[in-house]
Amino acid sequence: MTRDPRYDVLFEPVKIGPVTAPNRFYQVPHCNGMGRVFPSSMIAMRGMKAEGGWGIVCTEQCDFHATADVTPFTETRLWDDADMPYLARMADAVHRHGGLAGIELVHNGQDTGNLYSREVPIGPDHRPVKYAYHPIQARAMDREDIRAYRRWHRNSALRARRAGFDVVVVYAGHDGTMPSHFLMPRHNHRRDEYGGSLENRLRLFRELIEETKEAVGATMGVIVRFAVDEMMGPGGLEWASEGREAIEMLAELPDLWDVNVSDWANDSKTSRFAPEGYQEEYIAFVKSMTSKPVAGVGRYTSPDAMVLAIRRGVLDLIGAARPSIADPFLPNKIKEGRPEDIRECIGCNICVAWNNLSAPMRCTQNPTAGEEWRKGWHPETMPAKGSDSHVLIVGGGPAGLEAARALGLRGYRVTLAEAEGELGGRVARESRLPGLAAWARVRDYRIGQIQRMTNVETFLASRLGADQVLEFGADHVAVATGAHWRDDGVGRAIREPVPGCRALTPDHLMAGRRPDGPVVIFDDDHYYMASVLAELLRKEGHEVVLATTAALVASWSQYTLEQERIEARLVELGVRLLVRHKLVAVNAGSVELYSGIDRRSVRLPGEVVTVTMRLPDDGLFQDLAARGVRSLRRIGDCHGPATIAAAVYEGHRYARELDTTIDEDAVPFRRDVFDLDATT
Ligand code: ADP
Ligand code: SF4
Repeated sequence: MTRDPRYDVLFEPVKIGPVTAPNRFYQVPHCNGMGRVFPSSMIAMRGMKAEGGWGIVCTEQCDFHATADVTPFTETRLWDDADMPYLARMADAVHRHGGLAGIELVHNGQDTGNLYSREVPIGPDHRPVKYAYHPIQARAMDREDIRAYRRWHRNSALRARRAGFDVVVVYAGHDGTMPSHFLMPRHNHRRDEYGGSLENRLRLFRELIEETKEAVGATMGVIVRFAVDEMMGPGGLEWASEGREAIEMLAELPDLWDVNVSDWANDSKTSRFAPEGYQEEYIAFVKSMTSKPVAGVGRYTSPDAMVLAIRRGVLDLIGAARPSIADPFLPNKIKEGRPEDIRECIGCNICVAWNNLSAPMRCTQNPTAGEEWRKGWHPETMPAKGSDSHVLIVGGGPAGLEAARALGLRGYRVTLAEAEGELGGRVARESRLPGLAAWARVRDYRIGQIQRMTNVETFLASRLGADQVLEFGADHVAVATGAHWRDDGVGRAIREPVPGCRALTPDHLMAGRRPDGPVVIFDDDHYYMASVLAELLRKEGHEVVLATTAALVASWSQYTLEQERIEARLVELGVRLLVRHKLVAVNAGSVELYSGIDRRSVRLPGEVVTVTMRLPDDGLFQDLAARGVRSLRRIGDCHGPATIAAAVYEGHRYARELDTTIDEDAVPFRRDVFDLDATT
């Protein structure tokens, strides 16, 4: 296939100080929940990005001193020479595919609890540490501390060079690093030459950049990563005032400006709250202030949007974290003239959530993310089929669709039968809810791939029973029939059906049913669903109360960085929020809740919608199992209701493992097992 010449600009090399990026695709530093704790997984994941064509591939944040200990997070660490070998291996993995390896040196200063190192945290002022409300305070640094801090930073840049990195990122962003703390007046009340005027508050950042350039700038490109706006109005940094002045004051110092918005929840907004390219309005000014190249992010997955950002003079390099996770081969697909093969990020932040849970990242769109080394999974290739078998997949949701795509890629003859008149299952239904349209990409990518495979056939409006499945005579049957929401209140907090409760559920609402008047949404699920339904019903004019058993509305969405934004949206829409409330009883026209705070019951008018838990639709599987079908598996929500990412993963895993021998007693993946110190 030939590439559209419009996209040629994306493959021009870009000079970054003494080094040259082979193209304009820049995998910005991104956390991944693997880092130093699962180093082989991290290394293979980065290598895969370089193989897929990303011209620069960076580490996540790399802490450079024991006073910057982010335990329990798993980020990379470069405290001394002992930390160099695995980082050097990452650089090698990137070099093998012609990319530049980058490292982001970070000290989170006053935000780190130093739970492992037990060092006293440091920062511009005396202040309690931010994360998790630890009962620990950072102490204000004196001049000697600042000199030491600069030395640690410089030493780590020298180590990074010895480890083989080509570019180093000096970082003041996300309201979470030492230079950004010094920059913000709300964090910095110092009276010395590091406090007060903008010039003083910027002094530390300037010193770090200058000292890094002096130490390694002859051979390494020095990238400066800087958040120009905090999206909090005059209470924080704004691009039109000090954000702009700061860029002006440092304009020619870096070899490359990597600019974004702060904090992380703003920088990594989900598709529910921001479209592709959403940062452009904040960062567009930067190129006019410097002759150095400028990079930025904005969940770019469309080559047209990328080219436009370059042609309009907003960006020189297309930065990406999430789009590079969803599709490590995004650059190569554009290069090879097949942009329709891009597996577009849906902006759900499941990857972010797993990092925030200190577990290896997962991706809704890319089931191989995090499995490159552990399971040897490649995002683009599959082993050839192990037999000439015919596989029947029942159910065309994310699990069934991914199984069909991946089995098709392996060369199997595949039949996919779906009961409804459209493919997509829960993704088709949920993407019609407010703010979730981009989730349809999970379906659309897979349909696009399957349609081009002559060995995969799809039947719609085909609800199969056990007889039909048996008549079909396939060699293997995968049942991917999904799950349904319970209507009786049972879930995490409630173990027995709630008296009188035959509630409306998300399934009913997605199928078009509606309450007559006011509604109480009872949430014991804690992710997005209850809040999205509240938004839907409120916008349709219903009085809505959202009651949750948790202490926060949509509590789990803290991990996807959405919780505060969800809460704000619901308040803005006029949804009444009740936390720590449990459903007690449902009567005709009223709903009784119990408050765990004031320990009293409250009766509210209206119908109840429960969002508690789902039950597998595994009747077909049970029937087939009872009739002794030889090769039978259930996958996705029908096996264990969970995230869409889990369903896609299960579909993929089924396809990978078909016709292979699995030892049920063995750990199903490789692990990094650490050597013990010889003296212990
Ligand atoms: P998952 O997330 O595991 O893929 P979904 O609920 O999204 O699960 O998708 C399950 C799909 O299976 C739905 O589209 C549903 O219509 C379909 N389905 C359920 N039962 C049958 C059946 N007996 N025959 C064919 N399709 C079915
Ligand atoms: Fe994008 Fe979601 Fe994958 Fe993260 S998990 S890369 S947000 S699709």
